[in-house]
Amino acid sequence: MHPDLERVLFTEEQILARVRELGAQLSRDFAGRNPLFVCILKGAVLFMADLVKRIDIPMEMDFMATSSYGESSKSSGVVRILKDLDRGVEGRDVILVEDIVDSGLTLAHLRDLLYHRRAQSVTIVALFDKPEGRAVDIQPDYVGFQVPNEFIVGYGLDFAERYRNLPYVGVLKREVYARS
Ligand code: 5GP
Ligand code: MG
Ligand code: MG
Repeated sequence: MHPDLERVLFTEEQILARVRELGAQLSRDFAGRNPLFVCILKGAVLFMADLVKRIDIPMEMDFMATSSYGESSKSSGVVRILKDLDRGVEGRDVILVEDIVDSGLTLAHLRDLLYHRRAQSVTIVALFDKPEGRAVDIQPDYVGFQVPNEFIVGYGLDFAERYRNLPYVGVLKREVYARS
C-alpha cells in the first residue's frame, strides 16, 4: 500500500470484478441503441478504459473535461467545461461515465446540458457514490460501490493530481492534505 494512504478500500481485483459486472449489465440494457459513452476527464479515465473493454455491443466514445476541485479536497460548487465533446449528441443515448458522485453538482450540470443539446437519454454510471455528500437531488443510474464520506484516491482519483495511477482505491491520510 502507498505510504500516504490510511487504508485500502477496494483492491484492483475487487474493482475489476465490479467493472466487469457493470459492463455486462450496460451491454444488456443498451443493446441495439449504439450508446455514446462519455468519459468525464480525468478521474474516470481508468474506469472508462476498463469498462468499455467489457461492452460487447456497438458503442462510441467521447471525452469531456470539467473544472475540478483544484488542489483542495472540497467542492468549489463551480462547474466549468474545460474540454467539450467532439460531436453533437442530438438523438443519442448518452452514458456519462464518472469516477465519483459527491455533491452531484457536476453531474446535474452535465445532464442538463446534454438534454439541452437534445440527447435522447442521459444515463449516469459512477464507479463510486458518496450519498452523504449530496447537495442536489441526483442519483446515478449505475453505481460500482458506495463509499463513506472520506477523501479517497487511486484508480483515476487524485489529490492535487497525484495518486491517479494507483490500481487500487484507498483513503488518504489526513496529514497528507494538512501538509499542502
Ligand atoms: P461533485 O460535483 O459530485 O461534488 O464532485 C464530483 C467530482 O469531485 C468527482 O468527479 C471527483 O473529481 C471529485 N471528488 C469528489 N469526492 C472525491 C473523493 O473522495 N476523492 C477524490 N479524489 N475526488 C473526489
Ligand atoms: Mg470526476
Ligand atoms: Mg480531482
